Amino acid sequence: MTKLSFTQKLIQMISSKQSFEAMQQESKTWMVQCSNCKYEKSIWDMGGIRSGASGNPKTYMKCPNCNQSNWHNIYKKV
Ligand SMILES: [Zn+2]
Repeated sequence: MTKLSFTQKLIQMISSKQSFEAMQQESKTWMVQCSNCKYEKSIWDMGGIRSGASGNPKTYMKCPNCNQSNWHNIYKKV
């Protein structure tokens, strides 16, 4: 089992084992991509959780690769 972020631990505490695992699987299919350097990582690997959502939203965050704060595209890997 990989190391969980604070948010992930919090959700793990309030969810059943089954639903937590389902959320983990889903979060791993959602990718976050830096609009500057195109570096991408799954939401799960970023320490986040995304479940039951659709569409391609954007999030403002700091890129772990180029260290620039900018808009990141979120999309579902197929
Ligand atoms: Zn970047």
